[in-house]
Amino acid sequence: MTDRCPTVFDEPLLSGYLDRELTQAETQRVRLHLEDCPSCRALLADLAGVRAASRATPFRPPPDDQWDERPRTAASFLARRVGWTLVVAWLAAVAAYALWQLATAPEGLGVKLAVFSIVAGPVLLFLSVLFDRLRTLRTDRYRRVLK
Ligand SMILES: [Zn+2]
Repeated sequence: MTDRCPTVFDEPLLSGYLDRELTQAETQRVRLHLEDCPSCRALLADLAGVRAASRATPFRPPPDDQWDERPRTAASFLARRVGWTLVVAWLAAVAAYALWQLATAPEGLGVKLAVFSIVAGPVLLFLSVLFDRLRTLRTDRYRRVLK
């Protein structure tokens, strides 16, 4: 009794069988062969063991530069910085103008408070997002490494 397998069952095929990547016909062929071929069953068991071992290794996250939001090039960094500056400057100008209009408007205090709260809501929401964003940038532990 030899443990050499007469059939050409190469590792990719068994590997595909393990991963259920074969066609139905191929799967059937492998299964039938495995039923009476101890050597291929052993090989399959080996492969399965390797699979289980590699699945058991801790998940390794991809390098950070693949999923963080940090700009990758000088151009995109500049564009983002200018973009944020413009947004903040524009918002500050609009807010200042609105406050000035409000302060000099002839309406009563009640109306002024109502208008102010309508304007202040979205502005505060925006500011909270902005502050979070800035804090994320500051606490990004990889920034220092990359500098
Ligand atoms: Zn075999």
